[in-house]
Amino acid sequence: MSADPKGQTAEFIILGAGGSTGVPAIGNIWGKCDPNEPKNLRSRTSALLKYNGMNFVIDTGPDFKHQANHHNLTQIDGVIYTHDHGDHTNGIDELRVYKNRQGANIPVYGTDETLGSIESRHGHMFESRSEFYAQVVDRHAFKASDMKKRFEIVSGLSVIPFEMQHGQIMSTGYRIGDLAYCVDMSYIPDESLEVLKGIKTLIVDSAGYHFPESKQHANFAYIQELQDKLQPQQTVLTVLSVIMDYETIKKEAPNNAIPAHDGLSLNINLSH
Ligand SMILES: [Zn+2]
Repeated sequence: MSADPKGQTAEFIILGAGGSTGVPAIGNIWGKCDPNEPKNLRSRTSALLKYNGMNFVIDTGPDFKHQANHHNLTQIDGVIYTHDHGDHTNGIDELRVYKNRQGANIPVYGTDETLGSIESRHGHMFESRSEFYAQVVDRHAFKASDMKKRFEIVSGLSVIPFEMQHGQIMSTGYRIGDLAYCVDMSYIPDESLEVLKGIKTLIVDSAGYHFPESKQHANFAYIQELQDKLQPQQTVLTVLSVIMDYETIKKEAPNNAIPAHDGLSLNINLSH
């Protein structure tokens, strides 16, 4: 992404396309996934946004250290959180290494509710408790008035946060240029869909698979509905569980959606 003098593009990399257990699940449980297909090896859901030499991570799950080393992430300029479920946040302690190396607190972004919940479980990251355990992250909470509007992370790079239903809680989806990242969710309210008009790439939680009763995650029937409403040029399925074999879901995917895999790289046009 270096040949971009105007800073109009960014790179979006799927760090992890797995559900809450990853694939294989602990105990080397591959479920219905073919162990001989490298794209079935999935770490927990996370993504990396690369812009103008900077790195922004979306969620820090239990596999964050492994993901960071795999992508040689020697510097992090911020973390954007979708919601406080352990498979998206429990790797937050690893940010201490970046704080010590960079000599500055790491900015973290999310709704007040999400950051408050993370802080209640990982308070030592948000405040200094002794000279040996200094504060690591700086809290940047979206106010209600920030939702569905451009929020500038750094000059030239904005995200638009929007609410999604995820079982009993609300999670935060993000539009970044012409790409929308929608994990975890079972349903996107109409008010939120308004800000997704004109997207080119829809990355979507699909752990609900073929289960009509899924209350936590979107199923394929709902993803098809979203595609019909939003008409994205490409749809990428993520949050893939052990019963979702790569080649199998590639054939079953609604409207030629493609399954994500760890390391999948996508381009973002930021002028949208
Ligand atoms: Zn979740």
